[in-house]
Amino acid sequence: MYTNVTILITIVIKFDITFVGDTRDIMDGDQAYEKIKETALSGRYIHHSHLIPILKKLSPAWKVEEIGFSVKGLPIEKITVGRGPTKILMWSQMHGNESTTTKAVFDLIKALSSGYSNARDLLESLTIVIIPMLNPDGAMAYTRLNANDIDLNRDAQDRTQPESRVLRSVFDEFSPDFCFNLHDQRTIYSAGSVPRPATLSFLSPAADSNRTVTENRLKGMNLIATINNELQLLIPGQIGRYDDAFNANCVGDAFQMLGTPTILIEAGHFQGDYEREKTRKYVFKSLWKALECVAFDPLDFDHEKAYIAIPENKKYFFDILVLNAHHLIKKIDTGDALGILYKELLQGDAIHFSPFVDRTGTLDGYFGHLTYDCAKPEDVILLKNHDRIAKLINFS
Ligand SMILES: [Zn+2]
Repeated sequence: MYTNVTILITIVIKFDITFVGDTRDIMDGDQAYEKIKETALSGRYIHHSHLIPILKKLSPAWKVEEIGFSVKGLPIEKITVGRGPTKILMWSQMHGNESTTTKAVFDLIKALSSGYSNARDLLESLTIVIIPMLNPDGAMAYTRLNANDIDLNRDAQDRTQPESRVLRSVFDEFSPDFCFNLHDQRTIYSAGSVPRPATLSFLSPAADSNRTVTENRLKGMNLIATINNELQLLIPGQIGRYDDAFNANCVGDAFQMLGTPTILIEAGHFQGDYEREKTRKYVFKSLWKALECVAFDPLDFDHEKAYIAIPENKKYFFDILVLNAHHLIKKIDTGDALGILYKELLQGDAIHFSPFVDRTGTLDGYFGHLTYDCAKPEDVILLKNHDRIAKLINFS
């Protein structure tokens, strides 16, 4: 087992990634999307200061209200869009370092404000309350947890944190018909046991430990199956389903227990897109489809089987997989591979991706977003000429 691996540098992925793979953007209305995209937000590091000018511009067309404060006293806002009878609540960045869905909800607001597709009908059918950044302290520090080191998605029952109480008070007051719990997931997830990243993952959470398919849970499943049908055209094979182990402390499970269909959407990796600008678009398209369904469709059919057919998320990806690494590293066992992951580090005003060797071993069944096979001379040349990887590993 090779353990003496030295991390020598930190790299910024966006200047570094080349990939061979799926760049399809088929018939997905890219031009229309680019027109409505909220260009004031980009990349991974999105914190509350970035939102202030956008929120200012939204008012007075849409109601922007301060609904509480974080542990460190940063404001938490909600935005109300539309005037219809069906009520939707969504929140993003409950985990501070999960900003992709925040970009997507501002795309959504811009689309609704600018007449994109059937925006006018949606605004007449729906009232949508969006909390774009529930954990502004975590967003500033680029951490999952809030400033008291609490995971807000495990605080739904006790509500020990001000951010948890803010969300619950909006839920109680607004009494939504449907909720969207918006997150990011790591690059390690594959959509099943195949070499396809889970660019999007979904869950209609359980409302009890028996994971009963209640009427509301089925509504969530129906919605997810419908979104999946549409998004498979854009990112075929790259949609996963989270396992439905019940945990009453998770917000989605807790809201399901209270009788409101609540779905989880996780933004994940798309080939080469470490800034998650492509994933952002697919989240936007998922949200748009979801709004159409909730607005115009009673969702009273039974798509449970189609929902279950979505492959379950697996943790089968490394950022970089180096196969047969013993050809280059003497201390590693013959045939073993290196599984390299990136740690996301906030440095200055940007997120840097620092590589580390997460695992060594045969790593059968694992995939890499980039893969090098040291049994192939051409890959060895690539690796040795690849400054950043070569510097990561102390070849000896
Ligand atoms: Zn999360």
